[in-house]
Amino acid sequence: MCRVAFFSLSAELRTAAMAHNPPAKTLDPRRQELLIKKYKDEGSLVKSGNRFILKFLKIYTEHITLVRGHMAEVLHSIFFLGNINDVKIDPMEFFTDIVGEEIKKKFPEAFEKYDTHLPTRTPFSILLDAVVLIKGNQNQKDVMEYLSALLKELSVPKPKKATHSNYYTLEATVICMCHYERNGLKGLNPNPNFYGGSLSCKGLKERKVMIALSCLEPWTPAVAYAVAFADEGAYIKLPKDVISEAFQRDLKTDSYLEKAPCTNCITIFRGVSFKPCYTGNNKKELWPYGNCAETESLSKLLKADLTLRGQVEVHNKTGIVHLDLETHQIHSKATETLVEELPKGRFVVPSNVFQFFYS
Ligand SMILES: [Zn+2]
Repeated sequence: MCRVAFFSLSAELRTAAMAHNPPAKTLDPRRQELLIKKYKDEGSLVKSGNRFILKFLKIYTEHITLVRGHMAEVLHSIFFLGNINDVKIDPMEFFTDIVGEEIKKKFPEAFEKYDTHLPTRTPFSILLDAVVLIKGNQNQKDVMEYLSALLKELSVPKPKKATHSNYYTLEATVICMCHYERNGLKGLNPNPNFYGGSLSCKGLKERKVMIALSCLEPWTPAVAYAVAFADEGAYIKLPKDVISEAFQRDLKTDSYLEKAPCTNCITIFRGVSFKPCYTGNNKKELWPYGNCAETESLSKLLKADLTLRGQVEVHNKTGIVHLDLETHQIHSKATETLVEELPKGRFVVPSNVFQFFYS
């Protein structure tokens, strides 16, 4: 048994392993099967995390002037996911000792704050941001080709069958780009694209945590409100000149294929011109509101475009709402989720004010 996996085992399985007994001999077969499955999945996070970090380190080294703060953020985000994993993974478990010590010397903050500070985005979102900075936001094709090549090099284990859990590849299966189409604007890049990824973390708890912390930090209040109160009929209405295009990575060809929006997205982001357009039948989706790449992408667009932000209507089931009056509701709902889902003690400080990791 390798060292990395050994320290990732749950107490029950670890005890069995220390006694040099296969877990099968001390546990009932079903429990054993579940634990082994879990153990293998944990191994997948360690492996994926290791590959992701080393690959990103290469990008960081080659493009340091463009992505100066991104490396520490990637490390922190991965360590955070390891820390809230059912079977906790220590940061050093993602490395062999020597590599880990070298990286720790260079980026000590990520190793110090992974269990006290929250990330603002997933590792994939940080990677996507870096790729867009390197390739330029108008070069969609270049961005997607570069990403595809990168993800191929990461050689993450492919799922045996299509599944909504990402098998801890740390990869977002869908990316989205949107822009506000305005004619007559001058300049080199009058209608810039804004990119987003679907949530690239596994498990309901992890998704709930990432959605809640995104409502607190990176998402604009309008997007956060629509996501947080979608179940109660909230949505936002944008001009039809907001164009949103999504692409799903095809694992067989390592390329991106166009993807129509899901029912959740057309429910909470109204008025947007989606490409391709919605083809569903209003069926309930299996993933939570806010999970999709459209959320991050539209939020970035709204954050950057003050004029557009002024045109967004925020609705709940009774009509238009004044966002300024609702901000505290978004915060208290997100905070409640984080207090409930995060490990007790370190993240949750007095008066439930969370600290975020910035680099
Ligand atoms: Zn969607």
